Amino acid sequence: MSHMNILNLRTGIGYDTHKIKAGRPLMLCGVKVPCDFGLDGHSDADVMIHALMDALLGAAGLFDIGYYFPNTDNNFKNISSLKLLEKVKGLLANNNFKIINVDMVLISEKPKISPHVVDMKKKISSVLQIDPEAVGIKATTNEKMGHLGRGEGMAAYATALIYKGSSK
Ligand SMILES: [Zn+2]
Repeated sequence: MSHMNILNLRTGIGYDTHKIKAGRPLMLCGVKVPCDFGLDGHSDADVMIHALMDALLGAAGLFDIGYYFPNTDNNFKNISSLKLLEKVKGLLANNNFKIINVDMVLISEKPKISPHVVDMKKKISSVLQIDPEAVGIKATTNEKMGHLGRGEGMAAYATALIYKGSSK
C-alpha cells in the first residue's frame, strides 16, 4: 500500500432487498439476529452481505452476484452468505484487488441491530481480512413509509473502496 497510486482506487455500490418470512432465521452480516421472522431467499438471504458483495464486485468491474451464484444452482441453497463473501474476496484477490474499506446500511423497521454490530464487524472483517474499523455497519428505519416501512421486507445498500495492486 506504500506505493499506492490514487488512480488505482475503485469504488463500488450494491443494493439488495428481500421479503420477510416467518420461521426463517434472520441472518445479517453473518450473525443470527434474534427475531420472530427471517428473510426469504435461496441462500440464507443475508441482505447486507448480498449488497456488500455487489459493491465489491462492482468496484472490481466484475459481474454481479447473480452471475457467480445463480439462484437456480442447488449448491447455493441455504448457503451461508459468509461463504459466498469469501468467494468474492477470492475473486478480487485473483484480480489483484485489495479492499480498503466497506460501508453498509440496512433499512428495516425492526429488529434493532445495534447490539449485534460489534459481532457483525468481526465476521465481515475476518472474511475480508481488513480491520473491523474498516467495516461500517448501521441501520435506519424507513419512518413507516412504503413497503419497507410496513415491514414487508428489508433492504440494504453497501459501498466499497478497493485498490488495484500490480500483478506479480
Ligand atoms: Zn439477496
